[in-house]
Amino acid sequence: MPELPEVETVKETLKIRLLGLKIVDVIAPYPLIIKMDFTEFKFKVINQTFRDIRRYGKYLFFVLDDYTLVSHLRMEGKYFLRENLGQITKHEHVVFSLSNGLKLAYHDVRKFGTMELVKKGEEFTLLSVKKLGLEANDPSIDKNEVFRKISKANRPIKSVLLDQSILTGLGNIYVDETLFRSRIHPEELAANLSEKEVFEIIDNAKIILNKAINLGGTTIRTYQSSFGVDGRFQNELKVHTLAGKPCQECKTPIEKIKVGGRGTYFCPKCQVRKPL
Ligand SMILES: [Zn+2]
Repeated sequence: MPELPEVETVKETLKIRLLGLKIVDVIAPYPLIIKMDFTEFKFKVINQTFRDIRRYGKYLFFVLDDYTLVSHLRMEGKYFLRENLGQITKHEHVVFSLSNGLKLAYHDVRKFGTMELVKKGEEFTLLSVKKLGLEANDPSIDKNEVFRKISKANRPIKSVLLDQSILTGLGNIYVDETLFRSRIHPEELAANLSEKEVFEIIDNAKIILNKAINLGGTTIRTYQSSFGVDGRFQNELKVHTLAGKPCQECKTPIEKIKVGGRGTYFCPKCQVRKPL
């Protein structure tokens, strides 16, 4: 699944290529990606120009003249910008023709991604966007607010950090890395963590996300950002996907367990559960 740093990379890459271009046509071989009547969608987006692209959590906001196209890539969504040549490929579900002759294709093997069109400025009225918590790498994040929410959660910290309504933008890879850096066991109950520990988690999440953004994210599994921009952050991973490899801090083999159904990697020596 593309995580926040990958979506940020997609945003930055698309911004360079798309801003100032007008949508001259759109087709949708699989219109269910679009959460409104396709005829109406088409009528509204044609002749609109890309004015800005923003990211909020893992949502992309394509800001047009009068509307904002809110896109969530979910598991496998990707954007490709390509020459106006050849057939639409099997997994391209929405294809925009642009004023410079290029096509912007939304490609999604699993078809879980969504597109919603709202009036410009009304992005945050979408229920799915409204539910998101504070952004993990937002410099103005209110740590006390995060601590207040986390300290009420009687669930493993790993699951709490994956819950996008408390802190948004931390996916499986970055939660494992954040907890390793914070020396906290992924199954530790969130409510058992001290204020200091929660603040450290937030600081470490920021450090890790910003580093990943600078390196273009990771490309574990099938994810690849558009135009073949490969993430280099995977070379920086300390625990995620490294089961059996020695911990870089203490040489103990990294272990893999399941927490809330998600594959979770940690060092059993550096990340010890608190005594009950
Ligand atoms: Zn260790």
